[in-house]
Amino acid sequence: MWSSRLFWRLFLTYASVTIVASVVFVVIFLKWQQEAVEVEVRQRMQDEAEVLLHIADPSWVASEVPLEELRATWQPKLEALGREVGTRLTLVLADGIVLADSATDARRLENHRDRPEILEAASVGVGFSTRGSRSVGEPFEYCAVRVGSREAPRGFVRVALPWTPFESRLQATARLVWSTAVVVLVCTLALTYWLAWRLVHPLETLTQAAQAIEAGNLGQEVLVASRDEIGMLAGAFNRMSRELASRVDQLQVKTRQSSEQSELLETVLGSMIEGVVVIDAQQRILYANVAAGPLLDLPATQAVGRSLFEAARHPRVQKVIEQALLGEQPERIEYAVPRTNAIVALIALPLPGQPTPGAVLVLHDVSELRRLENLRSEFVSNVSHELKTPLTTIQAYTETLLDGAIDDAAHNRQFLQRIDEQAERLHRLILDLLSLARIEAAEEAFELQPVSIDEAVRLCVAEHQAVADSKGISLVSQPAADKVVVWGDEEGLRTVLNNLVDNAIKYTPAAGRVSIRWHVDGRRAVIEVEDTGIGIPKQHQLRIFERFYRVDKARSRELGGTGLGLSIVKHWVQVFAGSVEVASETGRGSTFTIRLPMVGSLL
Ligand code: ADP
Repeated sequence: MWSSRLFWRLFLTYASVTIVASVVFVVIFLKWQQEAVEVEVRQRMQDEAEVLLHIADPSWVASEVPLEELRATWQPKLEALGREVGTRLTLVLADGIVLADSATDARRLENHRDRPEILEAASVGVGFSTRGSRSVGEPFEYCAVRVGSREAPRGFVRVALPWTPFESRLQATARLVWSTAVVVLVCTLALTYWLAWRLVHPLETLTQAAQAIEAGNLGQEVLVASRDEIGMLAGAFNRMSRELASRVDQLQVKTRQSSEQSELLETVLGSMIEGVVVIDAQQRILYANVAAGPLLDLPATQAVGRSLFEAARHPRVQKVIEQALLGEQPERIEYAVPRTNAIVALIALPLPGQPTPGAVLVLHDVSELRRLENLRSEFVSNVSHELKTPLTTIQAYTETLLDGAIDDAAHNRQFLQRIDEQAERLHRLILDLLSLARIEAAEEAFELQPVSIDEAVRLCVAEHQAVADSKGISLVSQPAADKVVVWGDEEGLRTVLNNLVDNAIKYTPAAGRVSIRWHVDGRRAVIEVEDTGIGIPKQHQLRIFERFYRVDKARSRELGGTGLGLSIVKHWVQVFAGSVEVASETGRGSTFTIRLPMVGSLL
């Protein structure tokens, strides 16, 4: 309350007005009172003077009677009369000499010609003066009345009343008026204070409640008992506060729900592999999920607000989006992203509304799919070609034989030999293809088992020993210190080793050496198949694991290769969660290194 500016403004305004009004009133009243007393006193004195003039025969002014005689007559008379009426009475001769005085001996009085009341009476008939008496000493109110005409005055009758009793009466009245004014003032100030408080206090309560609402404490209510406009304001405030609290509550619930929904949507869209982009009617990007970034070739965070045309300048993309914005049936297109060369499938769906406010674009990276499709068709054409060659040869020799060469003893066996070789090649090719198909089919859900490397190598060496011996190649195995067991498949590991050792022997000239080593490197087993053969040129080293890829086609065919051996190796190693790599130098030999997880490391 003490800090309320409104309160102080109201209170001080009323208080100042009241104080000023009271003081003005009292001052005017007292002035009026004094004047009234003066008028009353003067009237009384004039009346008394007139009466005295009437009573006292103006014979006292007869000039022929000696002064002292007159005095002797009038002095006692005046003294008696003065005592009776309680007024000082003076008779003054026309020349100012005091004839008689009820209060003092007239002989001792000086000439009164220059007294103001006498001067005034001489000129207008009646004169008044208020002053201290030079003769008596205290303040007196004097009234003089002229005897005779103005031109020939015969004397003056003067009445004097001491002013002190009137003064005391006026002062008593002033005291009473002042004290009444102070009491009334104090009461008025108290009332003003109470009225200002009654007005300001509810406003202050309302202000505090409004500030609390502003600070977030909703549901504030104020208690104002009065039924006036302030009471009505408080009631309206309380209703508004309740309404506000309930609206904010509803809003918070809705906000929470919508933020939960948008979080859910964000999570769903964020975890999608497909890119989702929302654009407005002007093709500005309103939203892009994380997956959309690389597909549009711009970070998803920078995509929002930009024009889609900047991201996808492809004319077909523009056409599809324009169609969608016109509300036409969605059409699926594929296009290559210029910089990354990724192939993206896009479908644009118009947003509901007439006219449509925008469109949703769903983008899917189909590069891998298209790559696999290409690989597949390339593979099919490779397989057809690989199958066609031996079949054509077989067909040619069979026809030659049927055309009569069967009776040509010098060549028929040779022709049959060729047919057998090609049939064998076909057989190997078909076995390899089957093997590849089997691995690919099982790749996803292959159950790995512990397989001993020692045992697999032992069987592989046993299988190839004879061929190596026949070529004069020494085939050696250098086992690890301990028995090494890896996660894999027995047949698969044997196929891997067989293909590597088979190649090593195939591409190593006589008197060479093929070694199989294995050791443990951390949590992995490392198997190395090293030969001292022809080696593989650098530019071919990465590609030899592709299907049907051969460094020297003719030599491979001649040696009975299908071009699928290393591809089968790579597939198996992938199934075992391992890796394969080659290090080779032309003319000096090659080393194929396989790393496989050891039993225990996958657990
Ligand atoms: P292929 O049946 O022709 O041997 P692979 O897939 O096993 O097919 O091998 C692919 C090619 O890699 C071979 O044609 C050959 O040129 C080369 N190659 C594989 N192993 C060796 C090796 N140990 N020494 C030299 N070249 C090799």
